[in-house]
Amino acid sequence: MANHFSQLAKKSRGSVSELKVEKTSYKNNLEIYKLGDEVLRKNSQRISKVDTSIRNLAKDMLQSMYSAKGIGLAAPQIGIHKELLVIDINYEDSAAEPLILINPEITAFGSTLNSYEEGCLSIPGVYLNVIRPSTIKLKFRDEMGRPRKMKADGLLARCIQHEMDHLNGVLFVDRVSSIEDLNKELSREGFNKKDVLPMN
Ligand SMILES: [Zn+2]
Repeated sequence: MANHFSQLAKKSRGSVSELKVEKTSYKNNLEIYKLGDEVLRKNSQRISKVDTSIRNLAKDMLQSMYSAKGIGLAAPQIGIHKELLVIDINYEDSAAEPLILINPEITAFGSTLNSYEEGCLSIPGVYLNVIRPSTIKLKFRDEMGRPRKMKADGLLARCIQHEMDHLNGVLFVDRVSSIEDLNKELSREGFNKKDVLPMN
C-alpha cells in the first residue's frame, strides 16, 4: 500500500518483529510489478516452514517497501507467490517495529464498513476510495514461525485487508465502486482499465 495517507497512521500494536531493518532508502531494491502484469493475478501458496530464507525475504521486502515509501508490501508484488506480507504504518517513526504476517487468515470482520482512500505500490499515483470492514481479527505466523492472533482497526485493518487481497490476486482497484473516478485516475497515470477485474 502506498503512503499517501500515512499522516493518519496510528501506533501499531502487538508488533512482534525480530528483524532489524533501518527505515531508509536502499539500493538494489526488488522490482515491484505493476498493474497489467499477470504476476499480480496469481494466487499465493501457504508457507510450510518459516526459516532463514523466509526471514531474508521479509527483510528484502521491508527494505524495498521503505525505499518506495510504502506502508505495506505483499510477496506477489515482487513476483513471489508465497503468503507473506510486510506492513509498517509508522514508517516515519524509526522506533516502531514493522509487522511481518505469514499465512495470515482473517477470523472475523467487524460489522461496520468505512470508505477510505487507498493507494498501491503496484499502481503508483492512483488513489481511490474503497469500502471495507473497519475492524478485523486475524491469525498468522510471525517471522519465527510462532502462531499469533491480533485485532486491528483504522489504517492498520485497512492495510492488512489490502495486502491480503494481493495473496488472492486481487487489487484495490477491483473493489472501487466509482467507475468514473477509477477510469479518470487510471488514464491520468497511464494504466489500462482493461487490467481491472471488478469484484461485482
Ligand atoms: Zn497493494
